[in-house]
Amino acid sequence: RRVLIGGGTGFIGSTLKQFLKNRGYVVTVISRTPGKNRLTWNDIAQNGIPDDTFAAVNVAGENVLNPLRRFNDDFKNAIFESRIKTTSLLANAIRDAKTKPEAFICMSGVGIYKPDKEKLYDENTDVSESFDYISKLAHEWEKASETSSDVRKVILRSGVVLGRNGGMILQTYLQFYFGFGTWFGSGSQYFPWIHLHDLCRLIIFSIENNQVNGVVNAVAPEIITNKTFAKTFASAMNRPALLPTLGIVCKLVFGAERAVMILEGQQVIPSKAMEYKFPYLYPTIQKACAELAPFNYVP
Ligand code: NDP
Repeated sequence: RRVLIGGGTGFIGSTLKQFLKNRGYVVTVISRTPGKNRLTWNDIAQNGIPDDTFAAVNVAGENVLNPLRRFNDDFKNAIFESRIKTTSLLANAIRDAKTKPEAFICMSGVGIYKPDKEKLYDENTDVSESFDYISKLAHEWEKASETSSDVRKVILRSGVVLGRNGGMILQTYLQFYFGFGTWFGSGSQYFPWIHLHDLCRLIIFSIENNQVNGVVNAVAPEIITNKTFAKTFASAMNRPALLPTLGIVCKLVFGAERAVMILEGQQVIPSKAMEYKFPYLYPTIQKACAELAPFNYVP
């Protein structure tokens, strides 16, 4: 059974590919660059999806928190296009396919929910209004996945993905390892998160269980703050985390609009995953950090 992964060369996609292969699936990656067992986005635009596609997943997207890129219009366009164009291209190809896949799984982010100290968000919360760049991005991204066909669609609104080979953990690992781990700003902002392995397992769970449908919050059930994350990760390394990275520094590095993503947060509950009885391997940040911290890590 074939699964297509848009962005299957990336941090999330490459682990997902391995997990799918371990379960006996045939995986075809969709990439900008041609290669073995790969299709390019142009191939999909020209020839559609392979007839034997059992499921399609899109985890492509330019990294929003790339500190080396200035947050100017060019970069903002690249961020938009890398998500919206790829997702709508795949959605159109699925709509036009003679043999429809069983499921279409798309990524989105918890940035669709407005940061708030009090509010608890689940999949039933009304999010019809966008309020900043990141929420607008999430709205457009989710809209792009509309297939106008009866293929089962799952939109995963992901929190920060914690895994050793990419994302936030890779960017901050050495800082924590040498005892300079920090939280951002006050640290009291909520920090919706999910372990990479649970995210990949949730994607496979969504492919394989036909009761999974629509928006699903891809976050761990434990709600924590950014400071709790920093303290727990440092302590799993037997190191301290003593000081914050000041909000002003985050704004200087990332620009004010992007800094919102790390200086503010939402309390997001994975109501649907819990309703489906999804078996989390890492439901608590302590369990996740115990897996993420060891230096002699073999992925
Ligand atoms: P990566 O930065 O690892 O990138 C994933 C893949 O996207 C790349 O391997 C690349 O594939 C493709 N890509 C990058 N830029 C472009 C572009 N301009 N146009 C088309 N394709 C592009 O991302 P992650 O694996 O960390 O994340 C995957 C998706 O999940 C992203 O959309 C991200 O926003 C979302 N997400 C991630 C979170 C995280 O904490 N990591 C949290 C919430 C959501 P190739 O070079 O082969 O074309």
